Amino acid sequence: MLATSLPASTSATVPFHVARSSASDETNSPTDVTHAPPVLPVPLLDVSRGNNPLRNEILQALADVYDSGRFLHGPQVTLLEERVARISNTKHAVGCASGSDALLLALMALGIGPGDEVIVPSFTFFATASCVHRLGAKIVFADIDPRTYNIDPIEIQANITDRTRAIIPVHLFGQAAAMDAICNVADGCDIPVIEDCAQAIGGAYHGRPLGSWGQMSCTSFYPTKNLGGLGDGGMLTLSSDILADRLRLLAGHGMRPRYHHSAVGINSRLDTLQAAALLVKIQYLQQYTTARQENAQCYFELFQQAGLADVRGDCAVGLPYHDPAAFHVWNQFSLRIGNGQRDHLRSYLQQRNIGSEIYYPIPLHQQVCFRDCGYADGSLPHTERAAAEILHLPIYPELTRIEQEQVVAAIASYYREAYRSKAS
Ligand SMILES: *Cc1c(COP(=O)(O)O)cnc(C)c1O
Repeated sequence: MLATSLPASTSATVPFHVARSSASDETNSPTDVTHAPPVLPVPLLDVSRGNNPLRNEILQALADVYDSGRFLHGPQVTLLEERVARISNTKHAVGCASGSDALLLALMALGIGPGDEVIVPSFTFFATASCVHRLGAKIVFADIDPRTYNIDPIEIQANITDRTRAIIPVHLFGQAAAMDAICNVADGCDIPVIEDCAQAIGGAYHGRPLGSWGQMSCTSFYPTKNLGGLGDGGMLTLSSDILADRLRLLAGHGMRPRYHHSAVGINSRLDTLQAAALLVKIQYLQQYTTARQENAQCYFELFQQAGLADVRGDCAVGLPYHDPAAFHVWNQFSLRIGNGQRDHLRSYLQQRNIGSEIYYPIPLHQQVCFRDCGYADGSLPHTERAAAEILHLPIYPELTRIEQEQVVAAIASYYREAYRSKAS
């Protein structure tokens, strides 16, 4: 199934498309971006630009829940689960309170605990690994493919032992991990795969939707994700009836029937209010994804025009590598800034009111709380280098072409000034 044949969204148009096309009309002729002075601040992210056009629709949906009084287990939760399951092409989706809880519940459903090992990347958000630690299992960190920043299947293979009980690949920044190779390794050893799809809802690999490759997959509706809610929320997608039932049991205190507990679960629910807001926004997910992809393409062109493009990343600005098998949904646009320039460039952009961010400055194996995992500095060289060199630019759907030109112009002038001061 091709990623482009995912369920069609409604034909409703969102105002940012109007803004985008008028902006690019004005700049149809090739502009010399290196001489466009920054005018307005460019925020790293502005969630209101996405939410404001839907204000009435969302507030009405919230009012409906308010009037119904069904703040938990409302019909909107089931409807959202059905929509997300359809996007992921899985039989089930199970709502929960956050992406972090989704990961924890997935490991709980597999019965993971002390004595077990779980292989995760170190170059990811904390929640990918904390769930393992919380259950008393051993975190095994694997290094990344330096091109995609995703966990390297060869490193997974090298870390498998007879205690390995799960592998959690992360589709980092919106780009699929090498799921064919990862699933081959895992299937060969009969180890379940849990996808961390928090940054990649709507993505695909070899045309197959993310969220459908592993035994279970976890996604997040944290406001900065590609489908962001009005607070916390999460969901699991999967096709096993048995695991889906187990997840629902564990997410509700292991209670069934009422006040009878067969397992020690947690309390993790997706609020009906969140589900109602997300049901509005999910109609536009394809449009958001397309806008992110267009913004990424625009950056590639602008960096090329400015003479700053280096896809290999050895020189000044390394542009993101796009795995041709991935339907990339661009949760983030990452640059690789070598030669120790990254932090200088970041403060230069900051001075010019251009937002940027570092995801993630400290790999998990070097975090204080994971010191007892026993990973020395230098043990995951690709991960450590990425953490030292990576820098993220604004890429949200409503970002305008003019803003992108300002971002690239500022980076170009940074390098001009850096070169000039070196030459003098
Ligand atoms: C955001 C995120 C999570 C956690 O999601 P929350 O909803 O914030 O708990 C887990 N993994 C990754 C890779 C994330 O980016």
